[in-house]
Amino acid sequence: MSIARLFPRSSFFRFLTGMREVQTRRPVTHTPAPPSIHRTFSTTPASLCSADANQNPDRYFAALTQNKEWAAKTAREEPDLLASLAVGQRPEILWIGCSDSRCPETTILGLKPGDVFVHRNIANILHAADLSSSAVIEYAVRHLRVKHIVLSGHTSCGGVAAALGNKQLGILDPWLVPLRQIREQNLDTLQSLSADEANTLMGELNVREGVKTLKQKSVVLEAIEERGLTIHGVMYEVGSGVLRELDTNDTQEQLKARLVSYKTEA
Ligand SMILES: [Zn+2]
Repeated sequence: MSIARLFPRSSFFRFLTGMREVQTRRPVTHTPAPPSIHRTFSTTPASLCSADANQNPDRYFAALTQNKEWAAKTAREEPDLLASLAVGQRPEILWIGCSDSRCPETTILGLKPGDVFVHRNIANILHAADLSSSAVIEYAVRHLRVKHIVLSGHTSCGGVAAALGNKQLGILDPWLVPLRQIREQNLDTLQSLSADEANTLMGELNVREGVKTLKQKSVVLEAIEERGLTIHGVMYEVGSGVLRELDTNDTQEQLKARLVSYKTEA
């Protein structure tokens, strides 16, 4: 199978329109494994762990078994896919999203390994000087030359809920400062809404702030100007599995002002 077939150029728009077919993950009842299971796993072959997994519904051991089944099924149904990925990657999309387990980007987009380069953190916050997200963005834009950056928030976000509350959370407190700034700037509106509505609105405002931060990065501005890199702000509706696009487009004047203000050269 050719690389072009594996990574069609218009894939981002195709999976946005196809989101209604995506099913949300069914609720998981987690049963903690007894300590003996873990001790057994560390000293016995994987095949024995799979046997344990069959008798005990621990998600990790079950997932190990499912991985073998998935690898075999993928090799059977798409014999070229994994072999081509072993050679390299050419993702067209950089996804920046929340670490939340309910938002697995490749699954909800209906895509495959190799399709999406990913950075996820708590509440999909972009701090301008954060080394981790900045390195991912730099690599994705400059070296992988992705065509789209998707910044996704989601409904019922725990990080957003934390920033809408006042409980002390240790290291999470400085991390959540950008969300608290949004709260401060929109206090009256947020206080007039129900908890769910406030969570969704703050999630959207956070996406808009993140898009703004993205467009303050020289590497991103350069790619927008020179090769048409596009930035998308979206909200993922956890209860329906549907992505909703936010209008985060700039006017030509706004883009010009950003280029003058933020673009740097070697
Ligand atoms: Zn979240």
